[in-house]
Amino acid sequence: MINVAVNGYGTIGKRVADAVVQQPDMKLVGVSKTRPNHEAKTAGGKKYPLYVVKESKKSFAEAGIEFEGTVEEMWDSADVVVDATPSGVGVRNYELYKGMRTPVIVQGGEAKDSVESSFNARANFENSIGKNLVRVVSCNSTGLARLLTPIEETYGIDQVRVTLIRRGADPGQPGKGPINDVILDPVYLPSHHGPDVKSVLPNINIDTLALKVPTTLMHVHVVNIALEKDTSKEDMCRLLSGESRIHMVAEEEGIKGIAGLKELALDLERPRGDLWENCVWEESVSVKSKEVYLFQAIHQEADVVPENIDAIRAIVNECGQEESMNLTDKTMGMGLRR
Ligand code: NAD
Repeated sequence: MINVAVNGYGTIGKRVADAVVQQPDMKLVGVSKTRPNHEAKTAGGKKYPLYVVKESKKSFAEAGIEFEGTVEEMWDSADVVVDATPSGVGVRNYELYKGMRTPVIVQGGEAKDSVESSFNARANFENSIGKNLVRVVSCNSTGLARLLTPIEETYGIDQVRVTLIRRGADPGQPGKGPINDVILDPVYLPSHHGPDVKSVLPNINIDTLALKVPTTLMHVHVVNIALEKDTSKEDMCRLLSGESRIHMVAEEEGIKGIAGLKELALDLERPRGDLWENCVWEESVSVKSKEVYLFQAIHQEADVVPENIDAIRAIVNECGQEESMNLTDKTMGMGLRR
């Protein structure tokens, strides 16, 4: 059993903790909180061992929330720590607790140059074997790496151009926006996403532009790929349908936007309405003179969760890519029933 601790029980951390307890080869040894809020209470309700930062011991005691100990104690009892604290805090924590020699997985908000390797299960699982500090790339980069890897393997890629229409905030962040704007983020090229994708697929030529819009549901990518070898729409759709973490949205589903996808996830009683898969609209896939166009949607709160599970197995060298991805897919219930 791999003893896993989750430091930072927020949007990503609570989902990773839930996925860890589903794994037959992992044990959740603790989750940590800084504040005694509703998430701390929910973790207690799920019987997750709760740890707190030293400075918050008093506030948790006053709120009547029981905890096992401090973050240092949790860190020490783990074989791997998944750090899902806010951007910039993850690598700082790694430096802080380095003496404990526990390998750490941080998230996409950390700088790509501050880690030993960046991770995407489909693109570069092997690169993180035996490393001490691994970063699961951001939700957008995860979605692009999953899409581009099989296309590069099968047809070769000359150039990728992506416009990312990004959700303004997560549903639990009412203070963030925009609420009435379309923000060019940034105004110039490239957005940080292209270079980030290259941290897991270094040989891909990719340019990205990004906009932020008033929705909390999902990101949408407008993708154009110039291929080395020609193909047909049918073959491209067949290739992408064969990927366990890509859902091809069929015409008969009648889904024309991200609200419909979220409704589907809720109807299927997915936990928290999560979509772990990229959602590629089959109808949007067009192939013209070795160029592919398509739309895909990415659920920002969810797609990195299976990747964290695979990164745990890679870092401790538990098993290979295929075995890990298959096990994660099976235990989490990957694949949307039509
Ligand atoms: P979040 O704010 O929802 O959760 C962070 C949690 O960490 C909070 O519960 C906070 O109280 C806790 N925390 C803060 N400092 C801490 C500390 N020193 N020790 C322990 N806990 C601490 O953040 P999030 O959205 O889950 O993002 C976490 C990371 O995941 C970031 O790097 C982010 O860029 C990345 N990420 C986020 C998304 C997304 O859409 N939310 C998607 C992919 C990757």
